[in-house]
Amino acid sequence: MLTGKTALVTGSTSGIGLGIAKALAGQGANIMLNGFGDVEGPKAEIASLGVKVGYHGADMTKPAEIEDMMKAAAARFGRVDVLVNNAGIQHVAKVEDFPPERWDAVIAINLSSAFHATRLALPAMKAANWGRIINVASVHGLVASTEKVAYVAAKHGIVGMTKVVALETATTGVTCNAICPGWVLTPLVQKQVDAKAAANGWSNEEATRRLLGEKEPSMQFTTPEELGELAVFFCSPAANNVRGVAWNMDGGWAAQ
Ligand code: NAD
Repeated sequence: MLTGKTALVTGSTSGIGLGIAKALAGQGANIMLNGFGDVEGPKAEIASLGVKVGYHGADMTKPAEIEDMMKAAAARFGRVDVLVNNAGIQHVAKVEDFPPERWDAVIAINLSSAFHATRLALPAMKAANWGRIINVASVHGLVASTEKVAYVAAKHGIVGMTKVVALETATTGVTCNAICPGWVLTPLVQKQVDAKAAANGWSNEEATRRLLGEKEPSMQFTTPEELGELAVFFCSPAANNVRGVAWNMDGGWAAQ
């Protein structure tokens, strides 16, 4: 379905971003990876699916590096057809204890980077009259939790941005939608499990059960593979008129 198209997925060396990149590659899209840590492993996983794979190490806190990444993707593949704004971090603390530099970092990576990548991707998508912008928000774009002030603000912000971009592209072949996962067992969440286990003297299993039990009625993690399939749906012809939605895949979290 996506043969000949290119998808750029931010924060795709790990977790959800890598899952979405693999699902889009499975549909034939060439992939531009981004993110920190091991790069060769993810590159090899994507290449094994028979598509071309590139990588740019832009730090998503830096607009100039995001601009360089978008230029590099266009130079390598001609155009970015599918942009997945996925890079994100978490920091957990009460509002009055929240370090201002952590606020700035969370807003920069989880919200502002998506604005920069989107504004830079839109002209070529509009010129081609086809494009897909998929923002990985969170169930925290729909509801709040304590001790996540920057994350919840950024995720509500990206849901709002999704709607504005969807309206501004409504008469074109470009769509913009958000995905709102509940708990997904990635390094970002394992850190929260570890913190719970350490604070309460619980085993990993007990901390995991309690983490799910607090929020997610299904008591199951959503998987990067499931989220990848939702991204594939947003790229399909059936989703041509799906615009500005914030689609939760959260085991019933936001239904409560
Ligand atoms: P992860 O930690 O596994 O992956 C995060 C990715 O972002 C990595 O590739 C990392 O290298 C990259 N990254 C971090 N800082 C960066 C920076 N400054 N510049 C470029 N790349 C950077 O986390 P994940 O759980 O896969 O999270 C991916 C997205 O999904 C995030 O936006 C997160 O908020 C969202 N999300 C996660 C969950 C969950 O339960 N894990 C739930 C809802 C939403």
